[in-house]
Order: sequence, then structure tokens, then C-alpha cells
Amino acid sequence: MGEHIHVRIWDVTGVGDDGELLESAHCRCGATWSRAFRPDEEAPEG
Ligand SMILES: [Zn+2]
Repeated sequence: MGEHIHVRIWDVTGVGDDGELLESAHCRCGATWSRAFRPDEEAPEG
């Protein structure tokens, strides 16, 4: 088995109290991630 490289597909799932975009991502292997993204700031890594 080769080393799997996650492919994160981000989707906006809502908007937080401070106006940030709540996003979630998933990979076809089943792994998931979540983050809050402020449109007026640089996107955080990961
Ligand atoms: Zn994966």
C-alpha cells in the first residue's frame, strides 16, 4: 500500500457569530477536518 495523500475538499457549512465562514472538509478515505475561515484574513494552513 502506498502512502495516502489526503485530498481535502472544503465546503462552507455556515457562518459564525463573528462573520467567519465555518467550513468542513472530507477526503475519500473518510478523514474529515473543520475550520473557521475569516474572509478578511489570510486563510489558515491546514
Ligand atoms: Zn485521505
